[in-house]
Amino acid sequence: MDKLKIAIQKSGRLYEDSIKLLKDCSIEVNIGIDKLKTTALNFPLEVLFLRDDDIPQYLEDGVADIGIVGKNVLLEKRKRIKIKETLGFGKCRLSIAVPKSLSYNNIKDLNGKRIATSYPFLVEEFFKKKCIDTEIHEISGAVEIAPGIGLADCICDLVSSGSTLFMNGLKEVETVLQSEAVLASHLHLDSTQNIIMEKLLFRIRAVKKAKNNKYILLNVSNEKLEKIISYLPGIKSPVILPLANSECSSVHSVVNENDFWGIIENLKALGARDILVLPIEKIIL
Ligand code: ATP
Ligand code: ZN
Repeated sequence: MDKLKIAIQKSGRLYEDSIKLLKDCSIEVNIGIDKLKTTALNFPLEVLFLRDDDIPQYLEDGVADIGIVGKNVLLEKRKRIKIKETLGFGKCRLSIAVPKSLSYNNIKDLNGKRIATSYPFLVEEFFKKKCIDTEIHEISGAVEIAPGIGLADCICDLVSSGSTLFMNGLKEVETVLQSEAVLASHLHLDSTQNIIMEKLLFRIRAVKKAKNNKYILLNVSNEKLEKIISYLPGIKSPVILPLANSECSSVHSVVNENDFWGIIENLKALGARDILVLPIEKIIL
């Protein structure tokens, strides 16, 4: 049977979450010792382990059919490939950081500055749009030490918590790009490859939806039931079950993780009691 080839990072920040995503999609992958490639046991997928920087080129050439890579790498490389889905992990931002001692008011303070980065294209585009003139120095790693050793005045690098910047005496001043891992594909998949990719995307979307939602159960006295029902968002309509105590009911629904605490507070104010919140494994609508 035909297989779809998926490229994932060989080791690094995206590796664990990429493997976990396949696992959450019920795809079993046996990782061998050499870890160059492997075949999924229960899905028509061949997994190629590569450096993240090489994945866009392999996708353009069709060496891999689909791949998981940071949006930052994908946009910097400018290959002809398609983004199919954002994946919700590997979140970070590409930011400009300057020495803490520099008094910074606005972006004009970066005029004429030397900027060290591994993302020359994205940085150049950013400053071109803002009509700021900078001198870009491309370096491939340890960008954060560049100002300290006099190689540049400031840097543009990936940031998540900001602790690396802090430890190197830098402060973040501008965001160039918000990034996360994405699933991207070769432009011309054949029909079998497309079918397999759509099957995988179907599973990925079910897993993503489940992660963003929680299952909620609560008890409420029947005279307050109407208000609770009209408030609860739910995916469709909430489930109402009678309790042994005939004056109360149990209400089950699904709420979005983002507004979760606000919803719980309002439900309590409307008379909900004994609230239970459970994780959901998959949601298929
Ligand atoms: P490789 O050996 O595959 O080239 P790498 O060292 O270039 O790996 P990693 O540091 O493992 O790359 O980062 C991979 C991706 O993880 C980044 O391109 C980015 O999309 C994402 N990422 C998330 N948070 C961060 C962060 N704080 N710093 C760097 N990358 C991050
Ligand atoms: Zn890399």
